[in-house]
Amino acid sequence: MDTALFAAWIEETARTVAAERDRLTGLDAAIGDADHGANLDRGLTAVTAALAAREPGTPGSLLVLVGNTLIRKVGGASGPLYGTAFREAGKTLGDTPEVSVAQLHAALEAGLAGVRKLGSAAEGDKTMVDALAPAVRALEQAVREGKDAAQAVGAAAEAARAGAEATIPMQARKGRASYLGPRSVGHEDPGAASTALILSALRTVTAR
Ligand code: ADP
Ligand code: MG
Repeated sequence: MDTALFAAWIEETARTVAAERDRLTGLDAAIGDADHGANLDRGLTAVTAALAAREPGTPGSLLVLVGNTLIRKVGGASGPLYGTAFREAGKTLGDTPEVSVAQLHAALEAGLAGVRKLGSAAEGDKTMVDALAPAVRALEQAVREGKDAAQAVGAAAEAARAGAEATIPMQARKGRASYLGPRSVGHEDPGAASTALILSALRTVTAR
């Protein structure tokens, strides 16, 4: 997986988030403040502009630029959390020009650790962690089983999708949705849904 693939991933993420903006905002309307789709779309539009102005030379520096831009442009809880995830993932890749499945796993694991540190959410709290953590585990298993990039990323995207769906019966214990208490039950978490979209975008470009 080279810099062009990572650039295509972010481009595909921006495209899908724009297309699914209203669905994400609708999920946030149910248990939050109806801005998640708009927040991410605004951030990724800024990311697309930043990448057009200067395309970084390595996957790692590209992800760091994505993270820094999201932190700068996205208000709300999700901007700093996603920003940290991309930045930590990018830092973990260092200046490698070609990313293996094992390196991708290490990068996303560092991203997850950054989210956990900043937001102190555990699995089961009904947040993006409920989609990201299973995706990281799927990548770990893919490394153990010697899967190729397309298979590994496919498994990670599946795991994130299942993880997002599994947030529906959960009661939120972190973020704005937690203010609703038991009324947060019965709705998919918007951040888990967007994490599933981001992993699905990676699957799309890796399968090309
Ligand atoms: P805000 O809640 O500030 O309006 P967004 O609507 O953009 O921000 O993002 C909401 C999402 O952020 C939630 O659906 C959840 O997945 C995620 N989130 C909120 N707080 C946390 C946290 N402490 N740890 C992990 N993720 C969180
Ligand atoms: Mg919100």
